[in-house]
Amino acid sequence: MNPLDCPTTRDRTVKHLLDHTPLPPETLLHLRHCPDCQQHQQDLRQLIQALAFSAPQPPPADTKVKMLQRLHTPKKA
Ligand SMILES: [Zn+2]
Repeated sequence: MNPLDCPTTRDRTVKHLLDHTPLPPETLLHLRHCPDCQQHQQDLRQLIQALAFSAPQPPPADTKVKMLQRLHTPKKA
């Protein structure tokens, strides 16, 4: 009776925890009724906390931008 499948829910959960995107109501509904996805979310949360703890200095916010710029910069031959 779940409106979403598990892969979609987990994908959104990952994005939610990493990028702080809001979880749509149907995703929350799925989580409420799916112990597997609840466990997945819990594991992810612990993993992210563990990573944050082991790396007290997160990469600068503009790292992504720089990486993109590097990708778009023509290579010097
Ligand atoms: Zn599920």
